[in-house]
Amino acid sequence: FEMYKRKSISSLIGRDLKDAHNKPEILEEHNKITGGKIITRFPPEPNGFLHIGHAKAMRFNFMMAADNDGFCYLRYDDTNPEKESQEYIDSIRECVGWLGYTPKAVNFSSDYFQQLYDFAVELIKRGKAYVCHQTAKEMQEGRKEGVDSPYRNRTVEENLELFEGMRQGKFEEGECCLRMKGQMDHKNSNMRDHVAYRIKYTPHPHAGDKWCVYPTYDYTHCICDSIEHVSHSLCTLEFENRRESYYWLLDALDIFKPVVWEYSRLNISNTILSKRKIDALIKEGHVDSWRDPRLLTLEGLKRRGYTPAAINEFCDCIGVSRKGNENVVDVKLLEHFIRKDLDENAPRTYCVTDPIRVVIDNMGDDEEISNEADLFPGNPEKGKITYTLTKSIFIEEADFSEEPQAKYFGLTPEQPVRIFSGPYIKLKEVVKNEDGSLSHLVVEKVDEVEKKVKGCIHWVSEKYSINARVNLYDRLFTHENPKALGKDWMGAINPVSLIVKENARMWAHLSDIKPYDRFQFLRKGYFTVDEDSTDDLKILNCTVTLSESKDA
Ligand code: ATP
Ligand code: MG
Ligand code: MG
Repeated sequence: FEMYKRKSISSLIGRDLKDAHNKPEILEEHNKITGGKIITRFPPEPNGFLHIGHAKAMRFNFMMAADNDGFCYLRYDDTNPEKESQEYIDSIRECVGWLGYTPKAVNFSSDYFQQLYDFAVELIKRGKAYVCHQTAKEMQEGRKEGVDSPYRNRTVEENLELFEGMRQGKFEEGECCLRMKGQMDHKNSNMRDHVAYRIKYTPHPHAGDKWCVYPTYDYTHCICDSIEHVSHSLCTLEFENRRESYYWLLDALDIFKPVVWEYSRLNISNTILSKRKIDALIKEGHVDSWRDPRLLTLEGLKRRGYTPAAINEFCDCIGVSRKGNENVVDVKLLEHFIRKDLDENAPRTYCVTDPIRVVIDNMGDDEEISNEADLFPGNPEKGKITYTLTKSIFIEEADFSEEPQAKYFGLTPEQPVRIFSGPYIKLKEVVKNEDGSLSHLVVEKVDEVEKKVKGCIHWVSEKYSINARVNLYDRLFTHENPKALGKDWMGAINPVSLIVKENARMWAHLSDIKPYDRFQFLRKGYFTVDEDSTDDLKILNCTVTLSESKDA
C-alpha cells in the first residue's frame, strides 16, 4: 500500500472537497463535525457474498482513510429487502475482518429509513418529488422519449397525502411510486425523474416489518453519504453518469455533498465476479455455493487457501485508476502473490494423489528406515519431519511407466529412481490382476546406481499414511473474459474445473491438521485443509500449482 501512503487523497484523486461546491456554511458545519478528517465508506449491498473486486474496493477505501489520518465505515447498502439476507450480512462482516479491516462503525442504510423518509417529505414540500401512478413500462418509455409523466404536476398537498398513503399500505405494489423531479429531456438519462421510493410488502432483513415503502439505491446512497459526513465517496466507474443526480439530490435538500470519485472495477481473467452471475452459477449447479473454492468470492478464496496478505498485496499491486473499467487482470497475477506468500510460509511435505503400491523386496516385513527432512528446506531451525520407509509404500501412478518414454525420469523397467529422503529403487516385477490391470510393483532398494539418475519422486509409507481426498482445480471458464460473451457467458464454463482424487494418500503426521492449515506438497503445489475435513477424512484443496508452466 505504498501507493496510498505516499500520496494524500486529494493528490491521488486530483479532487478535494472544494470541487463538490458546498455552500460555505455547509462546509463549515461539516468541518466542525469531522474536524476536517478524511472519511470514506465501503458500501456493499448484502445481496451476495463479497468477491475479489470488493477486496479492491475495501483496500482503497480503508487504506485511503487510514493513511490520511481518517477512517472508514462499513455500510450495508440494504434497500432491496427481497434480495438481501442475514446470511449475506454476516458473511460480509466476517470477510471485512478477515482482510484485516476495522470499520469505524458498522452502519446500515436501513438504520436511516426514518431520516430518509423525512427527507422525502421535505423534497415533496420543496416541489422536487411527486407520486407517480405510471406503470413501470410507461415510466421507462417516458424516460426514453424524454416525455413528462401526466402525474408530474400534482400539488404538494396531493403528493404529501399520496406518499403518506404509500407508507400506510393503501396501495398495491407497483401501483405508484415517488419520483424525483429532475428533467425528463435531460441529456443525462439519470436525471430523468428517477424513482426514489417504491412499495414492497416484504419484511426487511435488518429493519424488520416496519416499512412497506423502500428507498431506491439512487435516492439512498448519496443521502447516507451526506448524513455520515463521508468526505470522499469512492465508487466504480459505471456510476460516473450518476454523479450528476447524486449532487442534484443533495443540492435539492440543501445538505452536505461529499467528493465523488470513480475508479475502475476489477475484472479477473477466466472467471466472473458479478453477484448476479455467481448466483446463476450456483442455481444451475456449476459450483456448490458462494463458498466454492473455484469462485473468487472472498470465502471461496479463503477456502481455496488464499491468505489475506496475498489478496491485499495483489490489490496494492493493481492500484486504482480512472481508466479501464472493462480491463481484465490476468488471474496469474493473483496466483503470483499467493505463491510468494506460501513459498515462505507453508511447510513442505508430500502426498500421493494417484497411488500405486510398491513392495520393496529386500526389506524385512517390520523393517523401518527413518530419515529427517526440513519442513522449510535450508531452514532446519523451522522444524523437521521424519519419513519412515517400510516394505510397502505408495508412489504416484504417473511416476511409473512400463514402456520407455522420451524425457521421462520416472521408474521404468530399465530406469531406477530415487525416492525423497530415501534410497534408489529398481524395478523387479510388475504384478498384474487377472483383468490385466496393475496390482503392484516389486522393487529392490539400492544405495548406489551405475548410471546417473535424474528422477527423484515422492512417496508415502503404507503403514504411516492415511487416506485423503484431494481436490484439484482448473479455471472455471475456458474463455479469458466470459463477460464479453454477453448472454452466452455460461457457454464458456469449463466442464472439468474440479478433479477429485478420492484415494490420495498422505503422511500420517498430517492426521491432526486443521481447516485452513497450508502445505506445499512437493512436485504438486500448495494445498489447504478444507473446512469439511473430519477426523476420518482429510480433504485438501489445491490452492495453486507450484509454477505457472505446470498449471493444470
Ligand atoms: P456486483 O456487480 O459484483 O454484484 P456491486 O457493485 O453490485 O457488485 P456492491 O455490493 O454494491 O456490489 O459493491 C460494494 C462496493 O464495492 C461498491 O463501492 C462497488 O463499486 C465496489 N465493487 C463492487 N465490485 C467491484 C469490482 N469488481 N471492483 C472494484 N470495486 C467493486
Ligand atoms: Mg449492487
Ligand atoms: Mg452490480
